[in-house]
Amino acid sequence: MNILKCENLTKSYGNVKALNEFSFTVPRGSITGLLGPNGAGKTTTLKIINGLITKYGGEVEIFGEKISPGNFSYRRKIGFVPEEFSLYEYMKGTEIIAFNGELTGKSGEKIIENLQSVFNLPLERKIATYSRGMRKLLSLYLALQTNPELLVLDEPTDGLDPIVRSKLFDFIFDYVARFKTTILFSSHILSEIERISDRVIFIKNGRRILEEDIDSLKENSALFVAKAKSGNAKIPGFVTYEEKDGFMEIRAIGNAKEVEEKLRDAGFEVVKKIPLTFEEIVVSYTEAYK
Ligand code: ATP
Repeated sequence: MNILKCENLTKSYGNVKALNEFSFTVPRGSITGLLGPNGAGKTTTLKIINGLITKYGGEVEIFGEKISPGNFSYRRKIGFVPEEFSLYEYMKGTEIIAFNGELTGKSGEKIIENLQSVFNLPLERKIATYSRGMRKLLSLYLALQTNPELLVLDEPTDGLDPIVRSKLFDFIFDYVARFKTTILFSSHILSEIERISDRVIFIKNGRRILEEDIDSLKENSALFVAKAKSGNAKIPGFVTYEEKDGFMEIRAIGNAKEVEEKLRDAGFEVVKKIPLTFEEIVVSYTEAYK
């Protein structure tokens, strides 16, 4: 069952189309990585889900209900770690945790204690004095304080040093195992997505390019080099198409079975089938979809 379903999300900022009919789902209990180049539309998507952007096209269904402007009750069940956390600068860490606890009716003492035993934030200091990494961690504290059903993380490890980053992963793995929380998170770090997610959604120029289980993506993707005397194989997202030594040469990425079939149907001879690592798959898809 899906905990989240986004259909045809469309959002423009002036002339910039940040999202262009972007559709995807997040199954309950999954860890879904949202991946895409700078400016692809990840933050815009996560803000829509969290009710921080209310003017957009398309529909969001969350916990089985369509969200509408003004109906924010669903947000109680979401924990959100935004890209930048810069609110309540004048408060101390302890104060904002108490404030969030009162606001949501959930003090989350135990989980805050657990987080503190791992990350040891200077909670007696004012937020104004926090570094970027400390702010990220503090917003994770606030997100987990309410024991959310869905945890939405926008570049959660941005600004964290490698040791804290690794601790954060361990913590999240542990947390998910205990509470069965669903996670949707964005990141630029491919190894991070590969390590933690079981599914990946790839967005570019506001459009969905790919939505698949990581294991099946790795198992089924390949890069093909194929040639024909002349011709045109209609493969979504070919990588390159060029005339070489009197032949048309195509390099195509995608589901190996489908691509191979389409190439053959179009009269192409497969010269090379190259298995790819996760990183190579992502790079090839990024190049293939302009
Ligand atoms: P990054 O990985 O760099 O954080 P992103 O995938 O999160 O990028 P968004 O921040 O959602 O991308 O931006 C999508 C597009 O919308 C970009 O072209 C961006 O410049 C534009 N955009 C986002 N916010 C605004 C805004 N407030 N005003 C104008 N344009 C915006």
